[in-house]
Amino acid sequence: MEGCIFCKIASGEIPAEKVFESANVLAFKDINPGAPVHILIIPKKHIASVNDIEDQDVNIIGEIFIAAKKIASSLGVAEDGYRVVTNCGENAGQTVQHLHYHLLGGRSLKWPPG
Ligand code: 5GP
Ligand code: ZN
Repeated sequence: MEGCIFCKIASGEIPAEKVFESANVLAFKDINPGAPVHILIIPKKHIASVNDIEDQDVNIIGEIFIAAKKIASSLGVAEDGYRVVTNCGENAGQTVQHLHYHLLGGRSLKWPPG
């Protein structure tokens, strides 16, 4: 989608520190990390938010969580624990309108997030 920063990262137009890539999924370090491990996991395909996930996307959403598990293991947070969370819409503080899951770990995380 034109003008979408995460589509540009998915296409390679904008650089990012990639930690995982498959045919449908990309994961890279958050530019402004909120924890020692802060990874963003996105579908390469443009989906704006959870509100925009369609039936045909069910496999991609599954692949994102399989990727999350692998990334957590490869970055050494699988045993200590980590969080996978997505913000949808204004009240949740979504700032990038391309579906992304934050994988946060490496420290004790507060609940609820705020
Ligand atoms: P949201 O607030 O929408 O849930 O999360 C957006 C996240 O994207 C933020 O944590 C922000 O730091 C990150 N972000 C925004 N622009 C870029 C970018 O150009 N590169 C990377 N790696 N992360 C970004
Ligand atoms: Zn996009």
